[in-house]
Amino acid sequence: MTLFLYDWAKNIQNAWLAPRCPVCAAAIDAAAPLCAGCHADLPVLETQCRHCAIALSESAATRVCADCARRPRFDHALAGFHYRQPIAWMIGGLKYHRHLAHARLLGDLLAERIALQAPEPPDLLAAVPLHPAAFRRRGFNQAERIAIRLADRLGWRVERDVFARVRDTPHQSALDAAQRAANVRDAFAARRDLAGRHVAIVDDVMTTARTASALARTARTAGAARVDVYCVARA
Ligand SMILES: [Zn+2]
Ligand SMILES: [Zn+2]
Repeated sequence: MTLFLYDWAKNIQNAWLAPRCPVCAAAIDAAAPLCAGCHADLPVLETQCRHCAIALSESAATRVCADCARRPRFDHALAGFHYRQPIAWMIGGLKYHRHLAHARLLGDLLAERIALQAPEPPDLLAAVPLHPAAFRRRGFNQAERIAIRLADRLGWRVERDVFARVRDTPHQSALDAAQRAANVRDAFAARRDLAGRHVAIVDDVMTTARTASALARTARTAGAARVDVYCVARA
Protein backbone atom coordinates (compact mmCIF):
# COMPACT_ATOMS: atom_id res chain seq x y z
CA MET A 1 0.00 0.00 0.00
CA THR A 2 2.77 2.37 0.98
CA LEU A 3 4.60 1.49 -2.21
CA PHE A 4 1.44 2.03 -4.21
CA LEU A 5 0.98 5.46 -2.67
CA TYR A 6 4.62 6.24 -3.33
CA ASP A 7 4.23 5.31 -7.02
CA TRP A 8 1.04 7.29 -7.26
CA ALA A 9 2.69 10.36 -5.73
CA LYS A 10 5.71 9.89 -7.98
CA ASN A 11 3.51 9.70 -11.08
CA ILE A 12 1.71 12.89 -10.12
CA GLN A 13 5.04 14.58 -9.50
CA ASN A 14 6.44 13.41 -12.85
CA ALA A 15 3.32 14.54 -14.67
CA TRP A 16 3.58 17.92 -12.97
CA LEU A 17 7.27 18.41 -13.64
CA ALA A 18 7.44 16.83 -17.10
CA PRO A 19 8.19 19.37 -19.79
CA ARG A 20 5.08 20.37 -21.70
CA CYS A 21 4.60 21.86 -25.12
CA PRO A 22 3.95 25.59 -24.46
CA VAL A 23 1.32 25.66 -27.21
CA CYS A 24 -0.79 22.54 -26.65
CA ALA A 25 0.50 21.26 -23.26
CA ALA A 26 1.34 17.77 -24.59
CA ALA A 27 4.28 16.12 -22.82
CA ILE A 28 7.53 16.74 -24.70
CA ASP A 29 11.18 15.79 -24.58
CA ALA A 30 13.12 18.25 -22.41
CA ALA A 31 15.36 19.27 -25.31
CA ALA A 32 12.48 20.12 -27.68
CA PRO A 33 11.00 23.63 -27.71
CA LEU A 34 7.57 22.36 -28.86
CA CYS A 35 5.81 19.05 -29.51
CA ALA A 36 6.35 17.59 -32.98
CA GLY A 37 2.82 18.49 -34.13
CA CYS A 38 2.98 22.16 -33.07
CA HIS A 39 6.51 22.39 -34.45
CA ALA A 40 5.37 21.11 -37.84
CA ASP A 41 2.49 23.63 -37.85
CA LEU A 42 4.67 26.73 -37.25
CA PRO A 43 4.14 29.49 -39.84
CA VAL A 44 7.66 29.21 -41.27
CA LEU A 45 8.57 32.02 -43.66
CA GLU A 46 10.03 29.97 -46.49
CA THR A 47 10.54 32.30 -49.44
CA GLN A 48 11.77 35.74 -48.42
CA CYS A 49 13.87 38.64 -49.67
CA ARG A 50 17.49 38.03 -48.76
CA HIS A 51 17.93 41.72 -47.97
CA CYS A 52 14.81 42.55 -45.93
CA ALA A 53 13.03 39.21 -45.26
CA ILE A 54 9.72 40.31 -46.78
CA ALA A 55 7.69 37.30 -47.93
CA LEU A 56 8.02 36.60 -51.65
CA SER A 57 5.89 34.31 -53.75
CA GLU A 58 7.33 30.85 -54.09
CA SER A 59 7.65 31.38 -57.83
CA ALA A 60 9.73 34.57 -57.40
CA ALA A 61 12.58 34.51 -59.90
CA THR A 62 15.08 36.00 -57.47
CA ARG A 63 15.22 36.15 -53.73
CA VAL A 64 15.30 39.97 -53.80
CA CYS A 65 12.20 42.18 -53.53
CA ALA A 66 11.63 45.15 -55.86
CA ASP A 67 12.66 47.69 -53.19
CA CYS A 68 15.89 45.89 -52.33
CA ALA A 69 16.71 45.43 -56.03
CA ARG A 70 17.04 49.23 -56.13
CA ARG A 71 18.70 49.59 -52.74
CA PRO A 72 19.22 46.62 -50.39
CA ARG A 73 18.04 47.40 -46.88
CA PHE A 74 20.48 45.02 -45.17
CA ASP A 75 23.42 42.97 -46.39
CA HIS A 76 21.57 39.87 -45.28
CA ALA A 77 18.19 39.45 -43.61
CA LEU A 78 16.40 36.43 -42.26
CA ALA A 79 13.00 36.13 -40.58
CA GLY A 80 12.11 32.83 -39.04
CA PHE A 81 8.34 33.06 -39.31
CA HIS A 82 5.31 34.92 -40.55
CA TYR A 83 3.80 37.09 -37.82
CA ARG A 84 0.97 34.62 -37.25
CA GLN A 85 -0.15 32.26 -34.50
CA PRO A 86 1.29 30.76 -32.44
CA ILE A 87 4.37 32.97 -32.98
CA ALA A 88 2.35 36.18 -32.42
CA TRP A 89 1.02 34.75 -29.15
CA MET A 90 4.56 33.84 -28.00
CA ILE A 91 5.83 37.36 -28.76
CA GLY A 92 2.82 39.03 -27.14
CA GLY A 93 3.23 36.88 -24.04
CA LEU A 94 6.86 37.94 -23.76
CA LYS A 95 6.34 41.65 -24.39
CA TYR A 96 3.10 42.32 -22.61
CA HIS A 97 2.79 39.55 -20.02
CA ARG A 98 6.43 39.05 -19.02
CA HIS A 99 6.48 35.37 -20.03
CA LEU A 100 10.28 35.37 -20.08
CA ALA A 101 10.32 31.66 -20.93
CA HIS A 102 8.98 32.73 -24.32
CA ALA A 103 12.28 34.51 -25.04
CA ARG A 104 14.09 31.18 -24.74
CA LEU A 105 11.45 29.49 -26.85
CA LEU A 106 11.61 32.15 -29.59
CA GLY A 107 15.42 32.18 -29.45
CA ASP A 108 15.44 28.40 -29.93
CA LEU A 109 12.97 28.50 -32.81
CA LEU A 110 14.81 31.32 -34.60
CA ALA A 111 18.16 29.58 -34.04
CA GLU A 112 16.78 26.49 -35.78
CA ARG A 113 15.79 28.53 -38.84
CA ILE A 114 19.15 30.32 -38.95
CA ALA A 115 21.15 27.12 -38.50
CA LEU A 116 19.46 25.64 -41.58
CA GLN A 117 20.96 28.43 -43.69
CA ALA A 118 24.37 28.33 -41.99
CA PRO A 119 25.05 32.04 -42.59
CA GLU A 120 28.43 33.61 -41.95
CA PRO A 121 28.61 34.29 -38.18
CA PRO A 122 28.76 38.01 -37.37
CA ASP A 123 31.51 39.56 -35.26
CA LEU A 124 28.82 40.65 -32.89
CA LEU A 125 25.10 40.28 -32.38
CA ALA A 126 23.19 43.22 -30.92
CA ALA A 127 19.50 43.61 -30.10
CA VAL A 128 17.40 46.58 -31.16
CA PRO A 129 17.69 48.70 -28.01
CA LEU A 130 14.84 50.16 -26.00
CA HIS A 131 14.95 53.74 -24.79
CA PRO A 132 15.79 53.80 -21.05
CA ALA A 133 12.26 55.05 -20.29
CA ALA A 134 10.72 52.17 -22.25
CA PHE A 135 13.12 49.76 -20.56
CA ARG A 136 11.96 51.00 -17.18
CA ARG A 137 8.31 50.60 -18.19
CA ARG A 138 8.80 47.03 -19.41
CA GLY A 139 11.61 45.96 -17.11
CA PHE A 140 13.50 44.13 -19.85
CA ASN A 141 14.30 44.29 -23.55
CA GLN A 142 12.49 41.44 -25.30
CA ALA A 143 14.78 41.54 -28.36
CA GLU A 144 17.84 41.35 -26.11
CA ARG A 145 16.44 38.33 -24.25
CA ILE A 146 15.85 36.58 -27.57
CA ALA A 147 19.33 37.59 -28.82
CA ILE A 148 21.01 36.14 -25.73
CA ARG A 149 19.35 32.76 -26.25
CA LEU A 150 20.00 32.87 -29.99
CA ALA A 151 23.70 33.58 -29.49
CA ASP A 152 23.92 30.80 -26.95
CA ARG A 153 22.35 28.33 -29.37
CA LEU A 154 24.46 29.33 -32.36
CA GLY A 155 27.72 29.91 -30.50
CA TRP A 156 27.72 33.55 -31.61
CA ARG A 157 28.81 36.53 -29.58
CA VAL A 158 26.10 38.78 -28.23
CA GLU A 159 27.06 42.21 -26.92
CA ARG A 160 24.95 44.54 -24.89
CA ASP A 161 25.17 48.31 -24.96
CA VAL A 162 26.50 48.47 -28.53
CA PHE A 163 23.66 50.82 -29.44
CA ALA A 164 21.54 53.23 -27.46
CA ARG A 165 18.07 54.46 -28.24
CA VAL A 166 18.44 58.16 -27.74
CA ARG A 167 14.84 59.14 -28.48
CA ASP A 168 11.83 57.65 -26.75
CA THR A 169 9.87 57.04 -29.92
CA PRO A 170 6.09 56.76 -29.63
CA HIS A 171 4.48 53.52 -30.73
CA GLN A 172 4.92 53.15 -34.46
CA SER A 173 1.46 51.67 -34.88
CA ALA A 174 -0.19 54.96 -33.91
CA LEU A 175 1.56 56.88 -36.70
CA ASP A 176 1.17 57.22 -40.45
CA ALA A 177 4.00 56.37 -42.87
CA ALA A 178 5.65 59.81 -42.96
CA GLN A 179 5.46 60.13 -39.18
CA ARG A 180 6.92 56.64 -38.76
CA ALA A 181 9.92 57.50 -40.91
CA ALA A 182 10.54 60.73 -38.99
CA ASN A 183 9.96 58.94 -35.71
CA VAL A 184 12.89 56.55 -36.00
CA ARG A 185 15.30 58.87 -37.80
CA ASP A 186 18.18 59.67 -35.44
CA ALA A 187 16.57 57.45 -32.82
CA PHE A 188 19.79 55.49 -32.26
CA ALA A 189 23.43 56.09 -31.42
CA ALA A 190 26.39 53.70 -31.54
CA ARG A 191 28.28 53.52 -28.28
CA ARG A 192 31.47 52.25 -29.83
CA ASP A 193 33.55 52.27 -32.95
CA LEU A 194 32.37 49.50 -35.25
CA ALA A 195 35.04 50.03 -37.91
CA GLY A 196 35.22 47.03 -40.22
CA ARG A 197 32.92 44.92 -38.05
CA HIS A 198 30.26 42.54 -39.24
CA VAL A 199 27.25 43.40 -37.11
CA ALA A 200 23.98 41.48 -36.84
CA ILE A 201 20.86 43.06 -35.39
CA VAL A 202 18.18 41.03 -33.63
CA ASP A 203 14.55 42.10 -33.43
CA ASP A 204 11.38 40.31 -32.38
CA VAL A 205 9.02 41.54 -35.08
CA MET A 206 9.88 43.48 -38.21
CA THR A 207 6.92 45.23 -39.82
CA THR A 208 8.02 48.17 -41.99
CA ALA A 209 11.72 47.47 -41.24
CA ARG A 210 12.17 51.20 -40.62
CA THR A 211 13.41 50.73 -37.07
CA ALA A 212 15.97 48.08 -38.03
CA SER A 213 16.96 50.15 -41.08
CA ALA A 214 17.58 53.20 -38.91
CA LEU A 215 19.72 51.07 -36.60
CA ALA A 216 21.62 49.63 -39.58
CA ARG A 217 22.32 53.18 -40.77
CA THR A 218 23.66 54.05 -37.32
CA ALA A 219 25.90 50.95 -37.42
CA ARG A 220 27.27 51.86 -40.85
CA THR A 221 27.91 55.43 -39.76
CA ALA A 222 29.93 53.97 -36.86
CA GLY A 223 32.00 52.08 -39.44
CA ALA A 224 30.31 48.67 -39.68
CA ALA A 225 31.37 46.89 -42.86
CA ARG A 226 28.35 44.64 -42.97
CA VAL A 227 24.96 44.74 -41.25
CA ASP A 228 22.65 41.72 -41.15
CA VAL A 229 19.29 41.46 -39.45
CA TYR A 230 17.63 38.46 -37.82
CA CYS A 231 14.05 38.69 -36.66
CA VAL A 232 11.69 36.11 -35.26
CA ALA A 233 8.71 37.29 -37.29
CA ARG A 234 8.12 39.39 -40.38
CA ALA A 235 4.76 41.07 -40.69
ZN1 LIG B 1 2.17 21.11 -29.01
ZN1 LIG C 1 13.74 43.27 -49.76
